[in-house]
Amino acid sequence: MDKISFEKKIGKQNFKEKANINILINEHEDKKSVLLTELGILTYKKIREGCILDKDFDEISDKILECDKIIYKNIKELEKINNSNKVIECECGNKLNNNDKFCSVCGKNIEELKCEETIICGTCNLEIDIDSNYCVCCGKKLR
Ligand SMILES: [Zn+2]
Ligand SMILES: [Zn+2]
Repeated sequence: MDKISFEKKIGKQNFKEKANINILINEHEDKKSVLLTELGILTYKKIREGCILDKDFDEISDKILECDKIIYKNIKELEKINNSNKVIECECGNKLNNNDKFCSVCGKNIEELKCEETIICGTCNLEIDIDSNYCVCCGKKLR
């Protein structure tokens, strides 16, 4: 084997070795990200439950709560859009459009049919169903 093709061969080997090392690094960086997310979820849960009391977590916890609020609010917006052409049934059996305010047959106030008792979450101030065990927005235990 002449000198040049020998160097080429070594170069190729190095390239392959480097590629394999890079794959290994990337794989483990991905794995680490997933594990850190899991750790974050677990930590955040313990913070919310009051098992971890550390002021260092306050800032990031508040930011997570803000995200939760925005996500929840927008899920509700989507539901509203999806429900706008949903048919609801009046107590008299008349089928009504979700946007109607009164029943066209018996005159019942439809808003009353739709409204349910709610409570306010102490953590995120969101109005939620009275029989919820956990806040649907921030996950706070309510009972
Ligand atoms: Zn009716
Ligand atoms: Zn809440």
